[in-house]
Amino acid sequence: MGSDLRETLSEYRRCGRAILATNFYNAETLLAVLRAACALGSPVILQTSPSTIEYLGLKVAVGLARAGRDELGVQAWLHLDHARDVGMVRRCIEAGYDSVMIDASDKDFETNVRLTREVMALAQGRGVLVEAELGYIPKLGEREAQQFEMTSPEQAERFVRETGVDLLAVAIGNAHGFYKQTPQLDLERLRAIGERVDAFLVLHGASGIPDEQWREAVRRGIVKVNFATEIKDTFMAGLRTAVQQSDSIDIRQVFPPAMQAVTELVKQKMRLCLGQEALPPAAK
Ligand SMILES: [Zn+2]
Repeated sequence: MGSDLRETLSEYRRCGRAILATNFYNAETLLAVLRAACALGSPVILQTSPSTIEYLGLKVAVGLARAGRDELGVQAWLHLDHARDVGMVRRCIEAGYDSVMIDASDKDFETNVRLTREVMALAQGRGVLVEAELGYIPKLGEREAQQFEMTSPEQAERFVRETGVDLLAVAIGNAHGFYKQTPQLDLERLRAIGERVDAFLVLHGASGIPDEQWREAVRRGIVKVNFATEIKDTFMAGLRTAVQQSDSIDIRQVFPPAMQAVTELVKQKMRLCLGQEALPPAAK
């Protein structure tokens, strides 16, 4: 969809920066994110999960992302987040996605390798990048149930060698959803993984990671940061307030405060990815 994603990721890694990858769910969250990218002149990766594709329809998801990118003149790519099956990946590649994630992280190593290789074969020759996950990043609500396996640098090296995967999501103490306690990323592990693999490293579960750890993770080689939970939370909080404060049936007046709040939030996170100082939140 955009200009070359691989080249931009390489350039960002060289400069010790990362590209923010934000999920969108409807036109409002998409525009809110694109306005942040536009304001900062930053590129952005626009992600949809399979459940968003189910909600919007694949053609609407692709059409919205493309139209939004063109309307705002932002450098943006469309990415499939956490696909669980190869059929979904195939549909998205055919529909024009720039990159796809196959998440077989809950399977054994050999199965993860096999599924990732299958997706690599589909993506090859189409200029589509492939992301996989090794180790296990807990999904929402799973956190307390058990101890999760972090990414081993040795296994990561073998995984990337055997699959040729372009992007690798690492488990270094990060988790999806909100953190119950302040997360402590294993930055030493991240450095060790980075020394062993050339795949672009991806940090999932960025919502709630303190700024300093976020910046340090980017310095140590994270080049794509996935950010979703706080977008949903901020958007819904803004929407609830707007709905409570007004009886208007004008949809176009109800959404903008929530969109504006998301734009400000995403700008802060983009600044972290670019290695800039985050500005203090605007005084209320
Ligand atoms: Zn994720």
